[in-house]
Amino acid sequence: MHEMSLVQGLLQQLRELASEHNTSRILKVTMVIGPLSGVVVDSFKFGFEVLTRQDELVQDAELEIVIPEVGYRCSACQNLQKTAGERPHQCAACGDTLLIAEEGNDLILQQVEME
Ligand SMILES: [Zn+2]
Repeated sequence: MHEMSLVQGLLQQLRELASEHNTSRILKVTMVIGPLSGVVVDSFKFGFEVLTRQDELVQDAELEIVIPEVGYRCSACQNLQKTAGERPHQCAACGDTLLIAEEGNDLILQQVEME
């Protein structure tokens, strides 16, 4: 499962942050996971739950996931449409059907609350 290694990477990042801030407990982690990032949110949550269980630093950390909208740019008129992830059938402005996703593939550690 691809998400497990992503969570491992996240935990590594959290450990570095914690030592930078000289804290031993992380309370809350906010992640932005774009609908086009290829990350399965449920698997990510599951991975987080499993991998934080034995780790005192993040044992009680709450995981919040923010799913941003996806922007689709019309190749003909450059109109940008935002959706929850699904590609629109056509451009709302000119009706062209060639729309290119340009946002929504982010995977970002947005916020960390520490003790
Ligand atoms: Zn258009």
